[in-house]
Amino acid sequence: MGKIIVGNWKMNGTREEAKELVSGIISGLQDVEYGQIKIILCPPFTALAIVSEILNKQRMEIKLGAQNCHFLPCGAYTGEISPKMVADFCQYVILGHSERRRYFNEDDALVNRKIKSALEYNLRPIVCVGEWKKGDSSQGILSQVKEAIKGLKRDSLRNLIFAYEPVWAIGTGDEADPSYANKIIKEIKEAVGQNISVLYGGSVTSSNISGFVKQPLIDGALVGGASIKAKEFVKIIKRVMK
Ligand code: PEP
Repeated sequence: MGKIIVGNWKMNGTREEAKELVSGIISGLQDVEYGQIKIILCPPFTALAIVSEILNKQRMEIKLGAQNCHFLPCGAYTGEISPKMVADFCQYVILGHSERRRYFNEDDALVNRKIKSALEYNLRPIVCVGEWKKGDSSQGILSQVKEAIKGLKRDSLRNLIFAYEPVWAIGTGDEADPSYANKIIKEIKEAVGQNISVLYGGSVTSSNISGFVKQPLIDGALVGGASIKAKEFVKIIKRVMK
């Protein structure tokens, strides 16, 4: 299985800035053999159209993801974006990110509903799980995993990607120890009971990425802060390919 690198741009970038960022990534990756790696960019909703247009023109094998979606296809939900709308542009959608859980009160049941709905629209969910405090046991993480996949058919499970993101490591510069992340990812894979991809996320940079992808069970990374600097993101990708 090739490695997967996801860039989560979060709430950053006007249309113009997104254009500049994706163009920088494209030019930095001119010499890359895509067969070995899957790259997924997750810009804010407002930049999906322009990023998708640029990627299509370049015939780049970079995929597009959204950072969230509702669970209904349409309706009177002011300010929301449905999976059906996301599917106009994207193949992937991040669900259950800790920032959604923390600031928008998303719980496991809601994340499960969103996952089911995203799958109906042929989106591949990138489901984020992780403990809130350093030193917490893996029990909470495994419960997030079990709740996320509740009611899903075995066939659908292989369309899921999980991202193990210890919340204390997100945006703090205090990344997890790669062998510890590998151990938790092993438990996540066992809890799902299928050969699914599980990424690590939390303060990944070009200086520490190699340590993570060298681990036998870590299938790639979900990158936040370092994904909105074109040169640094390209450097991360090139390190993964070494
Ligand atoms: C994230 O947004 O999921 C993330 C891991 O952020 P950062 O890389 O900035 O820690």
